[in-house]
Amino acid sequence: ADLLEGFNEDDMEMEEAEIKKSAEKSAFMQLQEERKTLPIYRYRDELLQAIDDHQVLVIVGETGSGKTTQIPQYLHEAGYTKKGRIGCTQPRRVAAMSVAARVAQELGVKLGHEVGYSIRFEDCTSDKTILKYMTDGMLLREFLGEPDLASYSVMMVDEAHERTLSTDVLFGLVKDIARFRPDLKLLISSATLDADKFSDYFDKAPIFNIPGRRYPVDLLYTKAPEADYLEAAVVTVLQIHVTQPAGDVLVFFTGQEEIEAAEEILKARTRGLGSRIAEMIICPIYANLPSDLQAKIFEETPEGARKVVLATNIAETSLTIDGIKYVIDPGFCKQKSYNPRTGMESLIVTPISKAAAQQRAGRAGRTSPGKCFRLYTAWSHQHEMEDNTVPEIQRTNLGNVVLMLKSLGIVDLVHFDFLDPPPAETLIRALEQLYALGALNDHGELTKLGRRMAEFPLDPMLSKMIVASDKFKCSEEIVTIAAMLSVGNSIFYRPKDKQVHADNARMNFHTGNVGDQIALLKVYDTWKETNYSTQWCYENYIQVRSMKRARDIRDQLEGLLDRVEIEPSSSPNDIEAIKKAITSGYFYHTAKLQKNGSYRTVKNPQTVHIHPSSGLAEVLPRWVVYFELVITTKEYMRQVIEIKPDWLIEIAPHYYKKQDVEDASSQKLPKGTGRAVMD
Ligand code: ADP
Ligand code: MG
Repeated sequence: ADLLEGFNEDDMEMEEAEIKKSAEKSAFMQLQEERKTLPIYRYRDELLQAIDDHQVLVIVGETGSGKTTQIPQYLHEAGYTKKGRIGCTQPRRVAAMSVAARVAQELGVKLGHEVGYSIRFEDCTSDKTILKYMTDGMLLREFLGEPDLASYSVMMVDEAHERTLSTDVLFGLVKDIARFRPDLKLLISSATLDADKFSDYFDKAPIFNIPGRRYPVDLLYTKAPEADYLEAAVVTVLQIHVTQPAGDVLVFFTGQEEIEAAEEILKARTRGLGSRIAEMIICPIYANLPSDLQAKIFEETPEGARKVVLATNIAETSLTIDGIKYVIDPGFCKQKSYNPRTGMESLIVTPISKAAAQQRAGRAGRTSPGKCFRLYTAWSHQHEMEDNTVPEIQRTNLGNVVLMLKSLGIVDLVHFDFLDPPPAETLIRALEQLYALGALNDHGELTKLGRRMAEFPLDPMLSKMIVASDKFKCSEEIVTIAAMLSVGNSIFYRPKDKQVHADNARMNFHTGNVGDQIALLKVYDTWKETNYSTQWCYENYIQVRSMKRARDIRDQLEGLLDRVEIEPSSSPNDIEAIKKAITSGYFYHTAKLQKNGSYRTVKNPQTVHIHPSSGLAEVLPRWVVYFELVITTKEYMRQVIEIKPDWLIEIAPHYYKKQDVEDASSQKLPKGTGRAVMD
């Protein structure tokens, strides 16, 4: 991808090198020409003038108009980088990486040098970096080290319409900084037209509009609701492929699992058709996809072939793929949802909003007229979809953010200047949780423990687990577990045609019903013993990429141990100590077995179940602590260990009282609910 790097002249015949050089030069020239065709280009000078005239500017332009890739370059060309770096935040890490790569290419520099990106657990910047793309969450963390953003001359809060939790908190912080740093330019950019709200919030900052080009998009609805949208989406792709003129297809799914399933089905159904149909190039794109494969979605489709992009929400506004003519919109996305009453947070597949549906459809009409196949009825669009997506701050646990703001010395959170304030109940619940974890004292002030927890770029419960590992002398093991959990749900690989083998391989790590977190530890340690062998991963149905990512994360977390003065310690055979450290972070997530084989959470009782993928799904221990809750057909606990109820009183005496954990062993279990392994 690099224009000036990547080849070594000495290894090449001189002539060959010359040819290559001139090819690269012309590719570079072509990129410069392409830049000029973007809608924003005509407004370059006007925009720079407006930025010069005003400290805060709200910029509105349709997706693909060039805001993210061009504005930082314009600012650089206009000399702003002489006064400091230019920062640009993105809600999604894939977008931060991909856009930075593109801009590096356009500037003809190596990614990580003048143009870089910073995402959690991956810093691809250097001292040279003047254009820095980063996730909004990373900028929040930068505030801890540089509360006035002194190294920046311009900060662009991009994709503001996404209204992620971190972006919303950033609004409050940058607004404050702008007051005492008059030299800092602040740009708030958004793809939708609700810019007035941003303008009002930033003391009536002017709005700069970038008119986009847009071609008409035909909206087609289904006549009846689809029972299985994945199947319906696959069928629609195939129909488009055989009946519609050239043009690429973009399908929106809710996550990696769906995308992989759809890819598999599409491949199976087109296999053996050979030359009877045109070539179909399937390109998945989701957050955990390795970056070399991410780049594939931007490759030009060869003549006669058709590209089918299977994407999450990321392609809604964060990434623009040229050449899309057909959009398939099943109408769902995966969303966080939080119930402050029960304190339970979960990911749920939810209908999208009308605003999101409109954005998705718009992707089909960027370069020519297009079609959008909505896999829902016009009635349900009209009557069942909300107008706008509820901002994340109003539907998520705020533990993380509260800990962060407290670390920044912001005492009064109730009066923090939020664009849309979170529900008071959610804020109170977050304070309570942090108090229960020991991060805040009873005056709501940050404790020494809280300060140590805030050093980790993790949820408070994970951070607490790590800090607590010191006491249980198992920091090595706990850091591994934290890293494995942070990788997400992609360690084990389960191909459709080899499910039994894959499941057997997986269960090998569960010997002794140790619980899922301990099984993850075993996976990691065994992999390490094989000297990080790829072959071993392959034989055990483990995704080597996920393991490598876990190793990266682990290295970084280990580096942070020193910062919080935790001596490395290890107790590989003391499973109880490791489980107690986990419980120190997760005692909130305790559930108790019911007579019918379901579970009930101990505080604020809710019915939940052990996820079928858990090693304990058949074991059904009496007391468990879980890592997270996912809602699919039922409310499932994912990553579960068995605990002894007494530990709760030992570990969280301020939270659990004797009566909460009584009757543990007196209850009899009916037959068929599995084996209780409590002693
Ligand atoms: P906006 O931020 O206004 O939505 P962008 O600056 O992201 O617009 O996109 C402008 C153009 O750059 C689009 O045509 C898009 O296809 C292209 N582009 C962005 N990122 C990449 C990439 N990683 N590879 C190839 N093209 C890209
Ligand atoms: Mg953008």
